[in-house]
Amino acid sequence: MYHHVKELMYTVRVDVPDPKFGNMLLEQFGGANGELAAAMQYSVQGINCDDPERKDLLMDIGTEELSHLEVIGVLTRMHLKPLRSKRNAAEADPLISIVGGGGVSLHNSMGSAWTADYLKVTGEIDVDLRNNIAAEARAKITYERLMNFTGDRGTLDALQFLMTREITHMKAFTLALESLGKPVFSIGKLPPTPGIVDQYFNDSTGVGDRGEPDARGPWNEGESWEFVEAPAFKQFLSPETGARQSGDGHAENGSSAPKKRSPVKKQSKGTTHSK
Ligand code: MN
Ligand code: MN
Repeated sequence: MYHHVKELMYTVRVDVPDPKFGNMLLEQFGGANGELAAAMQYSVQGINCDDPERKDLLMDIGTEELSHLEVIGVLTRMHLKPLRSKRNAAEADPLISIVGGGGVSLHNSMGSAWTADYLKVTGEIDVDLRNNIAAEARAKITYERLMNFTGDRGTLDALQFLMTREITHMKAFTLALESLGKPVFSIGKLPPTPGIVDQYFNDSTGVGDRGEPDARGPWNEGESWEFVEAPAFKQFLSPETGARQSGDGHAENGSSAPKKRSPVKKQSKGTTHSK
């Protein structure tokens, strides 16, 4: 059950209202990475969660996000207040000034309505926790960008608090994920296909106009990787059998897997790349 206490989680103060900044703040009220999206994502995940301990975590943080929604809503409204009476201010957000009478609404800064499509709810606790870690990272960077566009001391105080809490949540979700004890690349129950899972396809090759490199790093280099150079031009694996095939589609082990042609071979029928 929910209960409302007539006290903000963080006291909000605005020194100088800035309607254009208030419009930007709507991103954290009714936007894709905003507080309502966070509150609904975690709360709905929690309702679906059969793991009682992590369900408690989801409901704790989902409920805190509702308190954040209230804080950002009050802060935004203080910035938008001049929209009600001043023509110049009203131009910062006609939707809020003309339709909403100067009150906050569940739209983003461009007037797009909030949508449940923002939510990521999978019904798998480890996948949901990964979604939540990413959601907290997005919320954090959104707050940081907002903070870069205001010098209002009171506003910065409130945004600093809200930004900090997102890191707190990211930490809690990360540790909850780790506490499941699953290997880091294990999702669901079915194992990936051995061999194929360790192949890195170098599908973007050459050096770009601005010196963009053909990069090597821990993501494609070292013991756990098989680096496959430009597979489209050489060979690829049959998705059916895992057998290595040559470019013309004949499986080397003679299997009857359906023929699959590389893009290069296809194109060579009509036009040619050779000069
Ligand atoms: Mn939040
Ligand atoms: Mn959060």
